[in-house]
Amino acid sequence: MKLHNKLAIALLLGIALGAMLHPYAGAPWLAAISTHVLRPIGQIFLRTIFMIVVPMVFSALVVGVYQLGRGHDLPGVAGRTLAFTLLLSSTSVAIGMILVNVLQPGAGLQLSAGDAASGVDVLRANAAAAQPLSDILIQLIPRNPLESAVRALDGEMLPLMVFAVIFGVAVSQIAGGQGARGQGGEDPVLVRVLEQIFDACMWIVHLAMRLAPVAVFAIVFNTAFTFGTGVFATLLFYVVTVVAGLLIQQFGVYAALLWTAARRPPLEFFRNCREVYLYAFSTASSNATLPLSLDVAERKLRLPPQISRFVLTVGSTANQNGTALFEGVTVLFLAQVYGLDLTLAQQIRVMVMSIVAGIGTAGVPGGSLPMVMIVAQSVGVPAEGMALILGVDRFLDMCRTAVNVSGDLVIAALVSARPGRA
Ligand code: ASP
Repeated sequence: MKLHNKLAIALLLGIALGAMLHPYAGAPWLAAISTHVLRPIGQIFLRTIFMIVVPMVFSALVVGVYQLGRGHDLPGVAGRTLAFTLLLSSTSVAIGMILVNVLQPGAGLQLSAGDAASGVDVLRANAAAAQPLSDILIQLIPRNPLESAVRALDGEMLPLMVFAVIFGVAVSQIAGGQGARGQGGEDPVLVRVLEQIFDACMWIVHLAMRLAPVAVFAIVFNTAFTFGTGVFATLLFYVVTVVAGLLIQQFGVYAALLWTAARRPPLEFFRNCREVYLYAFSTASSNATLPLSLDVAERKLRLPPQISRFVLTVGSTANQNGTALFEGVTVLFLAQVYGLDLTLAQQIRVMVMSIVAGIGTAGVPGGSLPMVMIVAQSVGVPAEGMALILGVDRFLDMCRTAVNVSGDLVIAALVSARPGRA
């Protein structure tokens, strides 16, 4: 059986069984199986993937940038990647905000201030610890790249990427000089070493994927078992609004761009990406999905590696269309819940901040929650409202992560399809 079929079955089985057994969550033997058997399986799988994210991101970016730099194409590719990222994030947030204004999902809800859960306090602390935008810009340049690598999965991925890009440019410049002297010889040893590091990481991904169906079952079962169908049923209207927006972005905007600008049949493209979507949905992490999307981009979509490696690695942290949409919808939804009438100027502020926050969100589960609090606070929406969202966030995180990763692949296809490219 194909991997994506196994993953889909594991996903459905996990939700169904977990929800069925949720009423017995107090039974010691069931709780023991969940904690001591299923949780470790899920964690071992996730950690196997997380373990290679840093070496993989670094080697993929340095080699990708080196190859682009040698082809003198780096500014073009980087520029087009940024332009498409901003374009797709803007359409995504706009779709979400139009939907939330039309459907008014929060209009019928009442939230008492006492609903603030302790989870909100943690988020509030995170949001308070977040820096002003000027500092965020400064800190994109790491003082110590090793420290960024150590904290990469705690939100320091972007500075590490900046280092890798600058390092890749440097390697291509040095090699360019040597190539001119040495009549365009082989790639430098450093590049070949990094390529082998990348290949070894890929090998580990394939190893981990053998465990994927069992792990997906374990992770999803535990979510449904612990939180019950409540995770999937509460706040249905709000959830429907976010999901509708994500679907329009995925099957409307992405499909239209693939068809017109990348000249690829969208359905075939989506079919080739099925495994990636399922995997992103199950793990709720763009960073964890990166190795698989790199593989699919090269093997199934046949995108040029020097472009797809660059676009996908940068995109896994910097391009979060689904997250940007989610942030915009959530803040407006909370404003409705609290009966706040946001002016057009405030809504535009939410839109711009959501786009920027989407770019700055770490590609890890729940990475956007502190960002939502920052955007909410900026227009006077009480941060306590997050208590409402936390109950359904896991499911929405799964959905938006699938769209985030899908957006990365679409941008890679768009950038690769530059007119005149062989
Ligand atoms: N989980 C998302 C991702 O990894 C980030 C977020 O929206 O929280 O892409």
